[in-house]
Amino acid sequence: MSAEACFHWGRRRITYRVTRDERRRLKIAVAPSGSVHVTAPLDAADDEVHYRVRRKGGWIAAQIEDFEQYRPRTPPRQYISGETHLLRGIQYRLRVLETEASRIYLSGDRIVIETPHTESVPHKAALLNHFYRLEAHTEFPRRLQAVSSLFASEGIQAPKLLIRPMTKRWGSYTPKGNLVLNIDLIRAPVQCIDYVIVHELAHALEPNHGPKWRWLMDKVLPDWRERKRRLETSLV
Ligand SMILES: [Zn+2]
Repeated sequence: MSAEACFHWGRRRITYRVTRDERRRLKIAVAPSGSVHVTAPLDAADDEVHYRVRRKGGWIAAQIEDFEQYRPRTPPRQYISGETHLLRGIQYRLRVLETEASRIYLSGDRIVIETPHTESVPHKAALLNHFYRLEAHTEFPRRLQAVSSLFASEGIQAPKLLIRPMTKRWGSYTPKGNLVLNIDLIRAPVQCIDYVIVHELAHALEPNHGPKWRWLMDKVLPDWRERKRRLETSLV
């Protein structure tokens, strides 16, 4: 049997699902998607369950917020000369040149866009996205390779890597054991790319961000909190 309930914590409305089983103690889990699942003992009274979930409101809200911060932000861009764009955490200035054929490449501290459509924002955005995609497909497999060794002792195999645009997350670890990385992550410093890969690989052992997940993170990447903070603050 499963029931849904909700309450307000500050301005946030928290919805949770309650299921019952043979357990002795109430368990509250916040999934990476932000959904809240409560498992309660069979004989616990409804009022008691709801009271105890609400008392944990601060902790639940903090868990949900943690995931929201983990989502990337993408500012609107004009793709004009002089505008800065990130690659592996380094700022490059854009240089837009009018030419007959479209091309995009790195030259020193510049990302150069050559195109007949210098005024077309969608065209220039598509070129830059294409460039990021190529860079991601070069860099992410290398980083996965480097980071996988950290997990060898945990019995986690290197997963299949999928690289694609994602609107709300930097990455995910699917139930089938695939690692999905957001193309946009190529804008982040390499140490943050590694953090996201380690974060998702740790979900192979622990789907939630509970004590077991944090224990594993502390073990394989002791400075993960700093990397997470950097990821959240350096890509604005
Ligand atoms: Zn996660």
